[in-house]
Amino acid sequence: MRRIAVVGAGQAGLQFALGLVADGYEVTLVAERTPEQLRGGRVLSTQAMFGPALRLEAAAGLDLWADLTPAVAAVAAVLAAPPAVRALEFTMTLDEPAQSVDQRLKLAGWLELLAERGARVEYRSLDRDGLRELARRHELTVVAAGRGELAGIFERDAARSPFDRPQRVLSCLYAHGVGSPDPAAEPRARMHALPGLGELYLQPALTLSGPCAILLWEALPGGPLDAFGDAPPPDVQLARIRDLLGEYLPWEAELWTEAEPTDAGAGLFGAVTPTVRRTVAELGSGVDAVHVLGLGDAVVVNDPITGQGANSAARAAEAYRRAVVEHGDAPFTADWMCRTAEHFWQQHARHTVEFTASMLTMPDHLQGVFAAAAEHPEVARRLANTYAEPSDHAAWLATPGLTAAYLASVAAAAG
Ligand SMILES: Cc1cc2nc3c(=O)[nH]c(=O)nc-3n(C[C@H](O)[C@H](O)[C@H](O)COP(=O)(O)OP(=O)(O)OC[C@H]3O[C@@H](n4cnc5c(N)ncnc54)[C@H](O)[C@@H]3O)c2cc1C
Repeated sequence: MRRIAVVGAGQAGLQFALGLVADGYEVTLVAERTPEQLRGGRVLSTQAMFGPALRLEAAAGLDLWADLTPAVAAVAAVLAAPPAVRALEFTMTLDEPAQSVDQRLKLAGWLELLAERGARVEYRSLDRDGLRELARRHELTVVAAGRGELAGIFERDAARSPFDRPQRVLSCLYAHGVGSPDPAAEPRARMHALPGLGELYLQPALTLSGPCAILLWEALPGGPLDAFGDAPPPDVQLARIRDLLGEYLPWEAELWTEAEPTDAGAGLFGAVTPTVRRTVAELGSGVDAVHVLGLGDAVVVNDPITGQGANSAARAAEAYRRAVVEHGDAPFTADWMCRTAEHFWQQHARHTVEFTASMLTMPDHLQGVFAAAAEHPEVARRLANTYAEPSDHAAWLATPGLTAAYLASVAAAAG
């Protein structure tokens, strides 16, 4: 059996490790937090997963909560301009439903499953020296340690990194009792864009205590929606959310009168600098040097505005697993690591970065897409499905010319 080490028990590391165990590899996974600590801790993400990533989880037998989790087949989008005015609205229909399972629940469950299936799970926080030691004892070491300090072993790739500072400040709350504008309809996500101020997302999800709604503010730094810098406790956060909704999105405020935070760890705050890193790091020097391969947020971090991170982590985990299996008994050289990571970058990751950068900066041609989506359902549908399959960004959103050509063809077909 080939011996593979994985550092980090997030979407990327756990899915990769579980896949390798199923393929017969001897896997050691290093995790910082136990399942109990995960379940008892703060929420980690809003983790909306789209069809392609959900299919990978299902194929690997990892969709353990699929039947309990709201299936979201559409997103109701509103452009509030000026604030408190519904200037434009449309429904974005997904070809396959999206789902969000609280990562506290999912990752804790996957950690237990991994141990049950025979992997060695070590609970500790690795530093650079510990990582070098681990890499010496394994044929391949994959670092899926997320956005934490350990990611610093991978050099920032300035040419591929679209920004050098956060573009939004994030505030997220899990709540029970949030109403729906149409309670009889299938669950929908809601997206509100407030030009110049930020965005608000609402995602039906499954948390530790059952179905819930997740609210995510994406605030422009320093603006009025950037109001949670003191990381308040959930009840104070909720009171501020109600005030902001009342002022900027009053139709949404009406749905929050009965809302309550799901638990003491229901709130999450922060900001993400979208960053791309070189995917192979050398630790040590000379004959003692070892190489490790980066996976997931450790090497590509996107702002959550497009919900790409966990989806991309899932797809990267599968792409790396396949590459390992196809490599047979050959040594996992630095060259193989570079080729594996570059292939994934070209096939998928670069599109997540470019799509997310577009949504963060909203160039004029993209604003035109929102206007067209309100007029033509097929434009709204293509936009929705670009979140699920971001490589389509390159085909119709990447330049003003591509977008204009597509919108002209839709308008012509509509007569
Ligand atoms: C507010 C918010 C909302 C989001 N919404 C979405 C969304 O809707 N859809 C989507 O696809 N993505 C979303 N994302 C992004 C998504 O959550 C991440 O991209 C994804 O979870 C990354 O997975 P990962 O496995 O690479 O890293 P992580 O989930 O960060 O896992 C890394 C793991 O490594 C461990 N670790 C770190 N350092 C060490 C160390 N030194 N030693 C040992 N272990 C270590 C950590 O404890 C952690 O368990 C969102 C992110 C945020 C912040």
